[in-house]
Amino acid sequence: GTVTTQLPGTLADRIRGQVIRPGDDDYEQARRVYNGMIDAHPDLVVRCTGPDDVAAVLRYAAENGRDLAVRGGGHSVPGFGTGDGAVVADLSLMQAVDVDPASRTATAGGGTTWGRFNDATGASGLATTGGIISTTGIGGLTLGGGIGYLCRGYGLSCDNLLAAEVVTADGTVVTADENDNSDLFWALRGGGGNFGVVTRFTYRLHPVETIYGGPMFFELSDATAVFQMFRELVREAPREFGGFPAFQMAPPLPFVPEDRVGDTFVLVVPCWTGSQAEGERLVDRIRQVAPVVAEHVGPMPYAALNSAFDPLLPPGLQNYWKAAYATELTDEAIAAHVEHGSRVPNTQSTMHLYPINGAVHDVAPDATAFGHRDATWAANIAGFWPDPADNEANTQWVRDYYAAITPHSAAGGYTNFASGDDGHKAPENYGANYERLRAVKRTYDPGNLFHLNQNIRP
Ligand code: FAD
Repeated sequence: GTVTTQLPGTLADRIRGQVIRPGDDDYEQARRVYNGMIDAHPDLVVRCTGPDDVAAVLRYAAENGRDLAVRGGGHSVPGFGTGDGAVVADLSLMQAVDVDPASRTATAGGGTTWGRFNDATGASGLATTGGIISTTGIGGLTLGGGIGYLCRGYGLSCDNLLAAEVVTADGTVVTADENDNSDLFWALRGGGGNFGVVTRFTYRLHPVETIYGGPMFFELSDATAVFQMFRELVREAPREFGGFPAFQMAPPLPFVPEDRVGDTFVLVVPCWTGSQAEGERLVDRIRQVAPVVAEHVGPMPYAALNSAFDPLLPPGLQNYWKAAYATELTDEAIAAHVEHGSRVPNTQSTMHLYPINGAVHDVAPDATAFGHRDATWAANIAGFWPDPADNEANTQWVRDYYAAITPHSAAGGYTNFASGDDGHKAPENYGANYERLRAVKRTYDPGNLFHLNQNIRP
């Protein structure tokens, strides 16, 4: 068809938000995303104020044959929230959160971060499953599934999604829920940003206020025993138990002995949402396995634990990650984790091993698009470092670690933990529901306007 060339000025007249172009004061900041490795120069970044702005941007990109990037919290490791020559629909101004304590629901704008969401719901003693870091967007995280401290108890973030307001590829604003556009609603819960721009998310909330938890550092020589205990707890402990084991160099925190800062440890971050006494008893089981070198465990607001790691992981670091699922955590798998986790190359890099059983397994494998309900573990080998000069060494650590656990892993990895070079793995990463996702994609986005994502080919 004919491509109409519209000047950005025309677009600016059609939207209420801000249009940022190369050369503008805000451009350097606006083109950037969380991953400092991404150095793309979009043609336009449009800070949208609502669905009408989003629709105008989608039409503009389509009419002018431009790549469209949709940015929620901007945390995607492959940098899907920006692109060379792209038109970016930036949702960061759309962060209004409305909590209804009576119905235990909350509706939040498509660019909301978990920090803002948790603060709003926490004021009513409520929460839903979100990520580990509070600066991450609810948008990309929920659409890809949503793994976090609360998922054993309350399911994935997408399992708590009740409805979405969506701007589809043709610029129409629709509601997707169990009754309306239920095929779209199904696909949004695990299929990522492939189907439209979600401008409002409505979630189910749960009474979660003070949790018992926090980081505990153990010697590497105790790593096997600590991982085995964590495995036992994930098998046996009530669903109020969440959190993860990890490998981590100790940062300079007040509770870490000064002479141990920079040493590598096995870390456990429990998060218990039940009574404090029970939580203490449970965490004591981990303490009995091995002496704790340093810990900061106690009762704290859920939102405080959710932001505890934020200072360690500011925007702008180089990010390179790999993801793997496992149905069982065998002793052989633990050995591979211990070998490579012990070699974590710097203070920010880590491996988190998230349990995804409990309430996540209550949901039928075909009830939502999330295709890995049979997995019990989701490993995230997450390289983070400040200096691009270290890119080769650090990505190699991630790749070697990933190769070592692969024989002990199930097929696929969590799409939200995948890197830019994992695009070819999308079918496997979406898993059991991939063909049905393609069918929904053909209905809602046959031209693949939404392609800067872990893409589902129509
Ligand atoms: P963006 O880069 O803005 O978007 C990511 C993708 O989603 C893009 O394809 C984008 O187009 C699309 N998208 C975003 N918002 C919308 C929307 N409103 N409508 C339609 N499409 C949209 N994941 C977990 O599950 N649990 C964790 O604990 C966790 N921790 C993380 C910690 C850090 C530091 C980082 C960097 C990531 C973490 N993640 C976690 C991964 C996270 O889920 C993904 O990076 C996710 O894509 C981030 O969403 P975003 O909105 O911030 O990212």
